[in-house]
This record gives sequence, structure tokens and C-alpha cells, in this order.
Amino acid sequence: MHQMTLAEIARGLADKKFSSEELTKVLLARITQLDPQLNSFISLTEELALEQAKAADARRANGESGALLGAPIAHKDLFCTLGIRTSCGSKMLDNFKAPYDATVVAKLAAAGAVTLGKTNMDEFAMGSANESSWYGAVKNPWNLEHVPGGSSGGSAAAVAARLLPAATATDTGGSIRQPAAFTNLTGLKPTYGRVSRWGMIAYASSLDQGGPLARTAEDCAILLQGMAGFDQNDSTSIDEPVPDYSASLGDSLQGLRIGVPKEYFSAGLDPRIAELIQNSIQELQKLGAVIKEISLPNMQHAIPAYYVIAPAEASSNLSRFDGVRFGHRCENPENLIDLYKRSRGEGFGTEVQRRIMVGAYALSAGYYDAYYLKAQKIRRLVKNDFMAAFNEVDIILGPTTPNPAWKLGAKNSDPVAAYLEDVYTITANLAGLPGLSMPAGFVDGLPVGVQLLAPYFQEGRLLNVAHQYQLHTDWHTRTPQGF
Ligand code: GLN
Repeated sequence: MHQMTLAEIARGLADKKFSSEELTKVLLARITQLDPQLNSFISLTEELALEQAKAADARRANGESGALLGAPIAHKDLFCTLGIRTSCGSKMLDNFKAPYDATVVAKLAAAGAVTLGKTNMDEFAMGSANESSWYGAVKNPWNLEHVPGGSSGGSAAAVAARLLPAATATDTGGSIRQPAAFTNLTGLKPTYGRVSRWGMIAYASSLDQGGPLARTAEDCAILLQGMAGFDQNDSTSIDEPVPDYSASLGDSLQGLRIGVPKEYFSAGLDPRIAELIQNSIQELQKLGAVIKEISLPNMQHAIPAYYVIAPAEASSNLSRFDGVRFGHRCENPENLIDLYKRSRGEGFGTEVQRRIMVGAYALSAGYYDAYYLKAQKIRRLVKNDFMAAFNEVDIILGPTTPNPAWKLGAKNSDPVAAYLEDVYTITANLAGLPGLSMPAGFVDGLPVGVQLLAPYFQEGRLLNVAHQYQLHTDWHTRTPQGF
């Protein structure tokens, strides 16, 4: 049962082959048995799950239908869940029970999805390896000595290990696409504004976007359908109609213009990954796509710009965690300043403190123009590069990451080495564009992802290209040994 995709589960439930309650019990037992190896969950919500599963079964018995009705999922632990701990992977929020559901959580619950639990993540979504979580590192099911990617490493490891078919995640600089690549999943970061950020604890507000992590493009379409849409509670949500994503999966790729940026194949890229990307290009050519070399000349400036903008926004967003109204509070503060200092010093981990300091520095009066303003200018140039490219091509293709998943601990002493691994993913966040990563093969037994980018609101195009590719390849069906 645990091998089923969301689409297969939907058919099985519709055909009454099993109930949501039966499936939920099987998956909860599987999580209890196997997750100690992975550490992919921070909280299990067994009671809620069984309640939701029974309710979904009752709705089906009453004639209701829907691809998510009775479908088991989990939420990255930065989506607020009413009455349930929402920790953001931080000691700071270990004791925080959200007083409301995030819009994404509420929408999926209304569609009948069953919440099995909350997944592990890098603290406040800062990281690329899921090692900065206060709840401990997550292991990659493909090799338990390697990282699963981050910051949505818990969602990725759980789905890759077949503990559940799909999970929500968020992507500020790659945190959906990079863990998807590292664990052989399909993951989609939607256009900025497509999915509501209300109740999604903010890291860098102008970059954060929620999206689906699943094994197939078909399942990403199903989950995205339940997540996307205008929300008046989020002032950056965009009032655009949501297309039927599953209906876009049948389009031919004949004549599809794929742009391959020459900058993507520079020295930093593992040549074995470059070869797998070339193979995926050939596969898409067989399906009728036309390849064109393009250029994204400002790509080299994206990492420094991102690592100014994201920490700047984070330093502002995280100022609310001061030990006063919620979250961790130090023992016996001597005065208000002492309360702030010690609560924050004890509640935040090293990486979060580093980013708060970098961000506060970049925003300070004497350095604002030199760093923050400059980074914003680069951000515009990066966006302009994409706009020019999309005049000539329909999608842009390249590697998701320059290297496969590294060993646990390998980059702990050198944060900049980890930042550099984000080179292919962060440009989409700076520009607000949708991006998808899908399985493209293996290097040393570790999965490799190919990234597709599209113009604003063309999630359906990305999902269709990935779906057509998955109809003709079987990388995405491979299961890690032992799971
Ligand atoms: N690795 C990037 C960072 O640490 C992206 C994280 C994310 O997308 N949440 O900022």
C-alpha cells in the first residue's frame, strides 16, 4: 500500500479498494517503524489523522469525490496548525502551539487531505542539508550517511522513503527543488504569490513560496491544486484564476523550445551530473522539444545578492521572537534587555544567529546602500535576464544542484561552501519564477535532479513537461533500498 502515488490512492479510494482509515493506519505504523532511522518527522498527529480519515471516508460514502479526499500527507513544520506544535525546527518555537491553521493547511484539510504529522526542517528554513534543525539532522533514505537536502529535508526524506505519498514544503532559495533532487522526488516551487503565505512562518518574505513535494509530476499537480489560489489574508497573494493542473498533463512537447543556459555548465558542476542533464535533454528532444543555447549573464551575482537579501529579511522577520508573547523565554531575566538577549541567544541556533547578524549589518544605516540596495539592483538584473530568455524559449532546463547529496557534517564548518550549492535554484526565487526539479538519474547511488523553469504562472507547463518525461523514463519510480 505504501508504494502508491496520490493518483493511485485517489483511484483506489474511488473504487473502494480500501478506505482512507485503513491506509492511514498502515502509513502511521510504517512511520513509527521506519522513521527512527531518518528523523523526518518532528510531530506525528495520529489522532487528528484518524479523525480526518474517518471524516473523509464518510464524505466519500455520501457521494463526494476529489483527488485529495482521504489522501495522507504531512506538512513542513513551518505551516501553522491549530493546536498542534509548529516548531519551525527551532528550540525557539518548541513550545509553540499555533492558534490557527495556515491557509495551505486549511485548504488541504477542506479538500479532505489527512495530516499524518509535521516534518523536520532546517531551523527557520535556513539551510540546504537539514542539519540546522534543533530536532537533529534528517538522513537521506538513499544513503543514511548523506544529507537529504534542505530546508524541506523532512518532507523529502519521508516521501522518498515511502512513509507517505506527498508533503507540503517551502522554497526560499531552493528548499523544495534541492531536497527533491537529493532524494529522487519531483518538487515544484510555484510563482511567487501563487500559494498563500498566510500562516507560513516567514524566513524571507519576498522569496518564500509553498509548494508540493511528491514522487511524480502527476502528484505535484494534485497537491498544488489543493494549495494554490488567491488569499486576501496574504497581501502578496495574486488574484489569478487557478487552472486545472491535472488537465494540463496531456500536452505534446512537439516544438517546445527549451533553453539551456551556457552559464549552467561551468567549472563547479560535477561532470557526471552534466552528462545526466545531457541525457535528459536528448530524451526531451525525442519527444519533440527543440533545444536552444541561451545566456543568463548575471547568474554569477545571484548567490551574493541572495545571501544579503534573505538574511536582511530574516533579521527583520525574526525580531518578533523575543521571549515576550510566545516561544522560548529564558529563566529569571534581570530586566527587559536581559530577557531579549538570553531568550534569543538560547532559542536560536548558530546558523539563524549568523543570518540575523549578517542581515542586521546589511540593513544598518552605514551599509544599506553598499549591500542591501546593491543586492536589490542585482535582483532586478537577474529577473531581466530571465525575461529576455523567455522571449526566445518556453522553458529553461539545467541541473538542480552542482553536486549530489553530501555526507552528513561535511559542510558544517564552512557555511559558504553550503551557500554555493544553491547556485542553480536561487535565481528563480530572486525573479519570483516557478521552478520544478525531477529525477534524472544517479551518481554513486545518489539521485540527481534536472531543473525546469518557466514564465510566471506557467506551473502547468512545467508539470506537463515533467509528466511527459516521466511517461518515458523510470528514474522517478526507483525506491531506496530498505524502504
Ligand atoms: N539554502 C537556502 C538558504 O539556506 C535556501 C533555503 C530555503 O529555500 N528555505 O537560504
